[in-house]
Amino acid sequence: MQYYNSETVLYLNGKFLKAAETQTDLYGQSLHYGYGVFEGIRAYQTHNGIRVFKAKEHFERLKQSCELINIPYEFDNEQLIDATYKILEVNHLKNAYIRPLVFCSPNMSLTRPAEVSVMICAWDWGAYLGNNLLKVCISSFQRPNPKSVKVEAKATGHYVNSILATTEAKDKGYDEALLLDMHENIAEAPGANFFLEKDGCLFTPPPGSILPGITRATVFEIGQILGIPVFEKTLTVADIQTAQSAFFCGTAAEIVGIKSIDDKVFVADWKDTLGATIQRTYKNLVLEKENYEVII
Ligand code: PMP
Repeated sequence: MQYYNSETVLYLNGKFLKAAETQTDLYGQSLHYGYGVFEGIRAYQTHNGIRVFKAKEHFERLKQSCELINIPYEFDNEQLIDATYKILEVNHLKNAYIRPLVFCSPNMSLTRPAEVSVMICAWDWGAYLGNNLLKVCISSFQRPNPKSVKVEAKATGHYVNSILATTEAKDKGYDEALLLDMHENIAEAPGANFFLEKDGCLFTPPPGSILPGITRATVFEIGQILGIPVFEKTLTVADIQTAQSAFFCGTAAEIVGIKSIDDKVFVADWKDTLGATIQRTYKNLVLEKENYEVII
């Protein structure tokens, strides 16, 4: 995957620069210790023009993630949102994935950095987990203990756990992993939240050991509009056996249905599930289709 070419422009600390001509410091604290924060955002070409879906919420989370892990955040989110639209424009991107990253200056001691940088780049990216139903396995890796890290921060270092889980799943022939928490309750995927359908309702794990995603919050909003009951509930592996369907959701993955989890195969036709209804409505919502709730 080529993320940029010689023409690509990115945003770095108030400047728009050619990606191929920018450099980073090899002594940086984020590079050495995984002490940085990032976001994953999507832009869509809508009939109202190019729209960054929930831009404010994403940049607000970027700030909150920094605050949670003590990285000084002195950036103006309005300016960062303007910069995001400019990046899309100068790179002629329409349906794009946007990656803001906050990273720290050289500091080899385990203390706050003196200087913090922000960069924003973007590239064309299709559905992160593809468009087919997923073959999922329960990971041998658990999500981090919330007493060890701030799980609600989208911190770079946390993604070592995600990479371990996805790599293990793919090496075993699965499409993606589902991780449990330290109590062996269901938590989330390496880069997406989890929902299951049972008896006309949707259930998802409560905050505690998950990154409570912006897409997850959107599923609650859609459920409210469509009259689909959506609940937070502690879920165990046993709940999978009695579920009718399941899906992952996240900015990169959007809404993606699950075919099987270990040896449990969901027999329902995906298009008849609540997840499929949420999936169609989500697509209409991000594309700003009018009356999106009924165009399903
Ligand atoms: N959990 C994890 C671990 C993630 O990396 C992501 C992707 N940001 C999500 C959940 C979904 O979050 P969002 O819907 O805000 O993209």
